[in-house]
Amino acid sequence: MSHPTVGAMTELPEELQPIVHDVNRCSPVRVVVREPPVRDRSGSALWVRVAGASGAIGFVPQPGAALVERTFTQADQVHDWVLECLPELGFPAVWPECPEHPGTHPLGVVLRDGVVVWACPRSGTVHARVGGLGG
Ligand SMILES: [Zn+2]
Repeated sequence: MSHPTVGAMTELPEELQPIVHDVNRCSPVRVVVREPPVRDRSGSALWVRVAGASGAIGFVPQPGAALVERTFTQADQVHDWVLECLPELGFPAVWPECPEHPGTHPLGVVLRDGVVVWACPRSGTVHARVGGLGG
């Protein structure tokens, strides 16, 4: 049973694009976004999966919220999900690795001054914009 993959980045909901870009460009795993066969009970419009890992999280549109809030929520959720899937696929659950504290912890998704960024959870230092990893 296969379902159509959401192909081009432009077909992804706007709030999912930055985090999916960063994961697929810079992490050891790949996020795949698919339409569920039917609307599931949670109201998910899309399923967000990590290729090769079991399970998925649902993407539920939040039309009332500002784009930056939605982008933050989705980036935080997808990042948490990627961290759960990394060990299952044999990778350390440290992505994106904090450049200040290598091998210690991943950067966290933070909403800072109206921008969704990757920041060190210990020092608070902002290291990149979410969607801007890898150049
Ligand atoms: Zn750190």
